[in-house]
Amino acid sequence: MNRDPILLTPGPLTTSLRTKVAMLRDWGSWDSDFNAVTAGVRKSLLDIVHGHESHVVVPLQGSGTFSVEAAVETIVPRTGHVLVLDNGAYCKRAAKLTTLMGRKCTLLPFEEAQAVPPTALERKLKEDPSITHVILIHCETGTGVLNPLAEISAICEAHGKGLIVDAMSSFAALPIDARTMPFDALIAASGKCLEGVPGMGFVFIRKSLIDQCAGNSLSLAMDLHDQYVYMEKTGQWRFTPPTHVVVALAEAIAQFEEEGGQPARLARYRRNYKILVQGLQKLGLKPFLDPAIQAPIIVTFHAPADPRYDFKKFYDATKRQGIIIYPGKLTQIETFRVGCIGAINDVEMKQSINAIGQALAELGVSVGTGK
Ligand SMILES: *Cc1c(COP(=O)(O)O)cnc(C)c1O
Repeated sequence: MNRDPILLTPGPLTTSLRTKVAMLRDWGSWDSDFNAVTAGVRKSLLDIVHGHESHVVVPLQGSGTFSVEAAVETIVPRTGHVLVLDNGAYCKRAAKLTTLMGRKCTLLPFEEAQAVPPTALERKLKEDPSITHVILIHCETGTGVLNPLAEISAICEAHGKGLIVDAMSSFAALPIDARTMPFDALIAASGKCLEGVPGMGFVFIRKSLIDQCAGNSLSLAMDLHDQYVYMEKTGQWRFTPPTHVVVALAEAIAQFEEEGGQPARLARYRRNYKILVQGLQKLGLKPFLDPAIQAPIIVTFHAPADPRYDFKKFYDATKRQGIIIYPGKLTQIETFRVGCIGAINDVEMKQSINAIGQALAELGVSVGTGK
């Protein structure tokens, strides 16, 4: 089969032909035409979070994690103390990079099958006044759970703590409004719900903080203050920009806006999610999370109990059917994950359900009657 597979993964994900075609051109990094693309992308990104009044946006080369690391490096003073609200794998990654950056870091652990409870943050902040910043993962992609951004933001505001939000897998799909849910920094990337290709991240930084971020970073490449100052002055990226990624993102954003922006994207992902869960439940597969805390981004399913089930074989069998799924990320129980995001809709979701059913049949795995 020489058609592209359907990527049911949380990035890279399936992109439209229009987005792919946008990459068939070379751009000079000093060229004013390319600088205009960068400026247009930055403007559109601020539109999405209603952040023109309150925030600046600083793009950065690399995968999403590069931008999370850069945000911590740039925002948190070297003497800062970061509290990570931990209900999954990406929370642990944020804590690890914070520690490696030499910042004091405390983990506040929760169950992976639970959203972060705001009251626990309230209690912790009262208990330990040395905490200066809080990191929240908006949608914890490790499980698919949606964390309560608005409530956590309100608590950080009330206590005068800086909030850093990893909104990598939620940005552009779930509502984020800088006017009503303030944050010091919020991070996302090109290759997730904007449906661009991977290769750059971006960080929204509170305008009133940007000047005091000078000198925080111990890294040159990760210094978003430096990147910001240079970009404001020259319109250019500090170091070689991922030119093709930027133009593909501009094209992906144009399609996002034509589709109807964030509400329309969320509606499409919700439809994908519903079709997916109903279809796989019919095959006897069970979602891991309570639907009340599930984001329509990526769904964790329990692996079938049948001993003939083996993730690698299952993966290969679904791949032969033209779809790519994702391994589970839970330490305790065996699961697999299926994404609902990307330039896909009900047609691809139904095709994927058929493919998964076929794959299970091929392996001779029985999953019972489900529910
Ligand atoms: C995708 C993702 C990241 C970034 O991962 P990369 O592999 O570096 O792109 C970070 N946080 C969350 C919640 C994500 O979903």
